Amino acid sequence: MTQKHNYDIVIVGAGVIGFSIAFRLMRSRPDLKIAVLGDPMNSLMASRAAAGMLAPFGECDRADRFFHFCRESLEKYPAFIEELAVISDASVYFSMNGSLMPSSFFKETWEDRKRFFEEENIPYEVWSPGEVREKAPYLSESCGEILWVREGQVNNRELHDALVSAARKLGVAVLEANVTGFNRDESSIGHAVTGSGEIAGKKFVLASGSWSEALGRTLGISMPLKPIKGQMCRLQVEDNRLEYTVHGLLTYIAPWRGGQGFVLGSTMEDRGFDSAVEDQVIQGLIDRAAEILPCLSQAPVIESWTGLRPAAEDLMPIMGKSQRYKNLYYSTGHYRNGILQTPNQADYVAEAILETLKEEIEEFSPARYSL
Ligand SMILES: Cc1cc2nc3c(=O)[nH]c(=O)nc-3n(C[C@H](O)[C@H](O)[C@H](O)COP(=O)(O)OP(=O)(O)OC[C@H]3O[C@@H](n4cnc5c(N)ncnc54)[C@H](O)[C@@H]3O)c2cc1C
Repeated sequence: MTQKHNYDIVIVGAGVIGFSIAFRLMRSRPDLKIAVLGDPMNSLMASRAAAGMLAPFGECDRADRFFHFCRESLEKYPAFIEELAVISDASVYFSMNGSLMPSSFFKETWEDRKRFFEEENIPYEVWSPGEVREKAPYLSESCGEILWVREGQVNNRELHDALVSAARKLGVAVLEANVTGFNRDESSIGHAVTGSGEIAGKKFVLASGSWSEALGRTLGISMPLKPIKGQMCRLQVEDNRLEYTVHGLLTYIAPWRGGQGFVLGSTMEDRGFDSAVEDQVIQGLIDRAAEILPCLSQAPVIESWTGLRPAAEDLMPIMGKSQRYKNLYYSTGHYRNGILQTPNQADYVAEAILETLKEEIEEFSPARYSL
């Protein structure tokens, strides 16, 4: 027999994006009945595959709306982690120790970077090779001068675990159900259809990462979004070898601390929902990272994996109210920086849902794709 549940808000997607929206909504409006649908341990989901770098200054080289949104999100991180720790009672590794960019990898863009940091008042330092020896003694001498920039690092799996736990504690229903379609008419949605029943909602949120396009199709929507595959690995190295995140050319090293080693990334592959992890690709990541931190070449590999980044055609997030359905909202397309965007995105989308959003960000609006 078909089961029916009734919620104020049904969020489809059990990654950091879906859970952070549920968390923010429950913190503002504890009276709401909210469900999160999806598999929180989906093996290809981006939220558990990421490196957890909070890197607006390494990722952006111009001060557009996206850059400012990411920067605001970084600023919100310390308070967000604190609030989350209190509610979830789980510890999440988070640091603002900063990121390093070795000059040997950024030859062409080195001066442009410094100019950009100056223009935007981004806290940075240039470390001479002597200072590098003092502050990060295990780095290779071939790194040369290094740019230090004030960015963050989080263990994104601990973040995701804490969000799931906090959502449950706040009374969110976490339903491990796969949505196969929706009961709807031309302008509104009534139920999400799952294998274990229909789930009724007053409002729906599509926060399904790389799978958002397929769900959009069940709504008669054509969303220009696809997965971009990333292969990664994690190596066992003592925490004291490096307390910063490193950006190299086509490679990065992210410390997860607490004895959890270092995450090395990553590839960018347009190969659909391909889940393969290739030994030679992983070895390539290790070899390149070891040029920066030589001890990585001998370090045991703890694990390697693949994850899928949700990428819209213009590489901008898709966030806000649907044009087509009066009770549908989106938060997807967070691509390479969804962990960074999590706190700001949660505020933005929760305000859109609660109709308290002061100003829509045009560049992120679903309207640009007539969604
Ligand atoms: C290799 C890699 C490295 C990255 N590194 C970083 C980084 O260092 N810093 C950073 O900021 N970002 C990084 N990212 C990007 C970041 O991880 C993503 O932008 C972000 O996690 C997207 O989260 P999400 O919740 O939207 O999607 P996901 O985490 O992919 O979650 C999607 C959810 O939707 C669910 N779902 C899908 N279809 C259905 C359905 N039909 N019914 C119900 N549920 C469904 C899935 O089960 C899953 O729970 C990285 C990503 C990858 C892949």
